[in-house]
Amino acid sequence: NKQIIFKGYIDGTPKETDMELKLGEIEVKAPKGSKAVLVKNLYLSCDPYMRGRMRENYESYIHPFVPGSVIEGFGVCKVVESDDPFYKIGDLVVGLTGWEEYSFVRKNEQLRKIEHGHDDVPLSYHVGLLGMAGFTAYAGFYEVCAPKRGDCVFVSAASGAVGQLVGQLARLHGCYVVGAAGSSQKVSLLKEKLGFHEAFNYKEESNLDAALKRCFPQGIDIYFDNVGGAMLDAALLNMKVHGRIAVCGMVSQQSISNRDGIHNLFTLISKRIKMQGFLQSDYLHLFPQFLEHVLREYKQGNIVYIEDLNEGLESAPAALVGLFSGKNVGKQVVCIAQD
Ligand code: NDP
Repeated sequence: NKQIIFKGYIDGTPKETDMELKLGEIEVKAPKGSKAVLVKNLYLSCDPYMRGRMRENYESYIHPFVPGSVIEGFGVCKVVESDDPFYKIGDLVVGLTGWEEYSFVRKNEQLRKIEHGHDDVPLSYHVGLLGMAGFTAYAGFYEVCAPKRGDCVFVSAASGAVGQLVGQLARLHGCYVVGAAGSSQKVSLLKEKLGFHEAFNYKEESNLDAALKRCFPQGIDIYFDNVGGAMLDAALLNMKVHGRIAVCGMVSQQSISNRDGIHNLFTLISKRIKMQGFLQSDYLHLFPQFLEHVLREYKQGNIVYIEDLNEGLESAPAALVGLFSGKNVGKQVVCIAQD
């Protein structure tokens, strides 16, 4: 059983050498009455929150990784051993699993069976478009941003796993949508494939405030913030009165100890802006309606989803590390077996 092991707690940006490939043993039978099923891992999800779990005193909603243990993350898996009639051998499931070939996964509310009828959707989408990333976009946009037709919407990390769906949902809702991303290739994707009305490469802008004024001469109604830091500061200055900011993530701040100061918070008062942090897990009761909505739009051809698929368990550390320099184009997934 090949495994990717987390070596120890880190400072700064994660590196491939913070993880190592090892050969481990695994029991091939779940103990009788066990609360776990044995699965073969097929697709592994790489997510920015995993950086947080590499910090020793990670005060958050999920515990830090344990040094010397297998990295944990969301994955699409096939059941290979189970004494629970609900999980039959051959069933496809999505849930928290290990970065290894075979894992015991806990049977809990986080383990979801992939229903038949999803056969025309790529399996890997269950950790992307139809998984945690897609659900974050859905819950954050509809529940936190309170969108209205005609709203001007700004999305950062716009071509990523979450951002690309936020932009498309906003467009389908009748909003004007602008995305920021970190390369000209990503900017072209946003405009040509993902239906954003406008996009810019924030790395080429000497003044973010000026870039936002150019894209939003009347101001921003909704900012879906994936990055925090300087972009959030510039967006604050460009919000309209009664604007809404959904604080989804702060990927620009995750690996630095001296966090960028935010200077423009006073605009929250002067413009009566609502700024709300959220976790997708607060909204899990909406998951069935999310699946129905997004699957329908996808099957009707109204939504596309871009993935960056790496091959082989060995490539997983580089794929995870790449999220923090913007190497991924779209949702980063690692395929370790097709079936
Ligand atoms: P992405 O697929 O968007 O990958 C991360 C992207 O972040 C990179 O591709 C890069 O894009 C951008 N980035 C990396 N470093 C920086 C930096 N220093 N400054 C600005 N941008 C940077 O990831 P996800 O879509 O999975 O996640 C997006 C955000 O959503 C993250 O902050 C994540 O933590 C958050 N999140 C929050 C959840 C919640 O429940 N609140 C749930 C899931 C995700 P580029 O090349 O464009 O710079």
